Amino acid sequence: MEPKEKISVGVLGATGSVGQKIIELLSNHPWFEIKELAASESSAGKKYNDAVDWFLPTPMPEQVTEIEVKKCEPNLDCKIVFSGLDSSVAGEIETEFAKNGYVVISNSRNHRMDNDVPLLIPEINPEHIELIKRQKYGEGFLVTNPNCSTIGLSLALKPLLDSFGIESVNVVTMQAISGAGNPKKVKLDIEDNVIPFINGEEEKVEVEPLKIFGKFENGKISYNNFKIGVQCNRVNVTDGHTECVQVNLKQKVKKDEIINAWQEFRGEPQILSLPSAPKRPLYYFSEPSYPQPKYQRNLENGMAVSIGRLREDPLFDYKFVLLSHNTARGAAGGAILCAELLKAKEII
Ligand code: NAP
Repeated sequence: MEPKEKISVGVLGATGSVGQKIIELLSNHPWFEIKELAASESSAGKKYNDAVDWFLPTPMPEQVTEIEVKKCEPNLDCKIVFSGLDSSVAGEIETEFAKNGYVVISNSRNHRMDNDVPLLIPEINPEHIELIKRQKYGEGFLVTNPNCSTIGLSLALKPLLDSFGIESVNVVTMQAISGAGNPKKVKLDIEDNVIPFINGEEEKVEVEPLKIFGKFENGKISYNNFKIGVQCNRVNVTDGHTECVQVNLKQKVKKDEIINAWQEFRGEPQILSLPSAPKRPLYYFSEPSYPQPKYQRNLENGMAVSIGRLREDPLFDYKFVLLSHNTARGAAGGAILCAELLKAKEII
């Protein structure tokens, strides 16, 4: 399905870590075209080129360099806004945009747990899109993308939950620097260091999967109820969150059955061949030292999750390691995939 004309989109928080990745991933998009960029008052009024401290290794796409950055006010000339706003301001600004008829796809935490807002991973819970019918914004509505660690974890758990059932999960994350914001602006004491605290992160990853895996019935979501414990660490890696996962399953299964469930897993984005969908969401590597951020984070343009080291565990049934690109699959790419699914379903 190719729309006749590209849909105009805007980026809120266009100067940040997530905003820059959204711009990179939209630069040659077949359905969406960047028309508007917005950020804080200190960036507003400047050309994007002058407002941003561009940190991505790819060059800034030419079509955005001369765009004037605007304030985050709902008078932008576009239909969809992708939000990479700081969570201190995202909640109110995103609501204002939805009220004024925009489709808002957010990467911030503010609206994720709202009863009428889908917390969407297109391969996992596309039926949750129905929740937007409960929103009272007229033409506009809000959809949220989960936390960057939640997304990789939930994708790896989905085939296990469907095939074997899950009792409990324990996770230790090693999260990349770009997850803390634009690394040219946010200075972390990360050289020769591991920081065992990321404000609010553990709470999000402990609850978001239960909404994502919740059952949608009678217009609302009944949360899933398996147990998740999470510990989050910041490590000295540019991009790509690694997670060490232990899991108790409801059935006794062989290692090969788990690997097959991962390798065979496909969702709606793959069936619909959405432009940003990886051909396969999950890859299992049998090499004992994989996955590694340096080598696997850009697999399928950063949209696939790499898994390895599946083995039995003395405390849980199994343990494994996963890797997911935090600003691609975990934010910008995930948000764009949500918008593509909404377009393919003719909701936009
Ligand atoms: P960031 O690099 O700090 O960028 C924040 C953006 O918000 C900047 O464009 C900034 O504009 C803008 N902003 C700040 N205050 C504002 C205000 N008062 N009014 C309007 N705009 C304002 O942060 P980030 O890492 O991109 O994260 C953005 C959001 O996505 C956060 O909610 C974060 O939790 C979430 N997220 C991040 C990741 C990741 O891997 N980084 C992954 C998933 C989700 P100026 O440059 O003009 O100040």
